[in-house]
Amino acid sequence: MVIRTNPVGVHALVWVGNTSAGEVERAVAMTVETGFDLLELSLHDLDSLDIAHAREQIDAVGIGVACSRGLSFDADVSSEDTAVVTRGADLLQRSLRATSQLGGQVLTGALYSALGKYDRSPGPAGRSNAVAVLRDLAQEARGLGLQLGLEVCNRYETNLINTAADALAFTDAIGEDNVMIHLDTYHMNIEEDDFVRPVRLVGDRLGYVHIGENHRGYLGTGHLDFTSFFHALSDIGFHGPITFESFSSAVVARRLSSDLAVWRDLWDDGEDLARHARSYIEVQLAGGRRR
Ligand code: MN
Repeated sequence: MVIRTNPVGVHALVWVGNTSAGEVERAVAMTVETGFDLLELSLHDLDSLDIAHAREQIDAVGIGVACSRGLSFDADVSSEDTAVVTRGADLLQRSLRATSQLGGQVLTGALYSALGKYDRSPGPAGRSNAVAVLRDLAQEARGLGLQLGLEVCNRYETNLINTAADALAFTDAIGEDNVMIHLDTYHMNIEEDDFVRPVRLVGDRLGYVHIGENHRGYLGTGHLDFTSFFHALSDIGFHGPITFESFSSAVVARRLSSDLAVWRDLWDDGEDLARHARSYIEVQLAGGRRR
């Protein structure tokens, strides 16, 4: 018998671009059909998300849900402009409430800055604005029984947290124990020395993982060293969610796809992609267990 300790998730963008009722129904159905335990819903389209309907769909099939998002340059908690910071904080609060109402336990992503290419390094004032907003959000999250994740993203998508070491320093500055670190192999490939050291460095503060290839297509068709990464996860005793993330212009969420620079078709059949990813991750998890 295989004892599965890590919930294995799939990002909704494998299935659908946005979060209309029909799209949520399809995403939930396909997540179950392809054998995943958890659906990660991006909240980029929060305005059109019918939360009660989505919750019904998710509860009916018994999968888990996690929520993710990045901010935008006009609603950026790492800005030095108070009005921009306030808009970002409001967006995060709405996203936190939505996560709770959906039955999720984790809100993660680039919660600390816009998702996009900055033209300068973060200044101390912007950084401390982001820390203050996330401290308040974490305290609110604790009351709801939720965790916040800080996803470490590459230099072209944020200027604030590019490495595991950056994330540890930022989390220390926030100082709330329900803020955890979220590593993503796609971003690690650009910024980290390898796939082992960052995992060991973060250790028990690792709370969420994204598995994506260097080109964000089919797992195993790029050059990432997933074997070392899964061994490192096993070595630190990581039992949290491992979510497959892949983007293709076959499924388009206009604004998010542009922010992520998804310009080409790496696949056109999300179901085939997801089935392949599910079994690839299972094999890697089994290989990572100590014998
Ligand atoms: Mn990611």
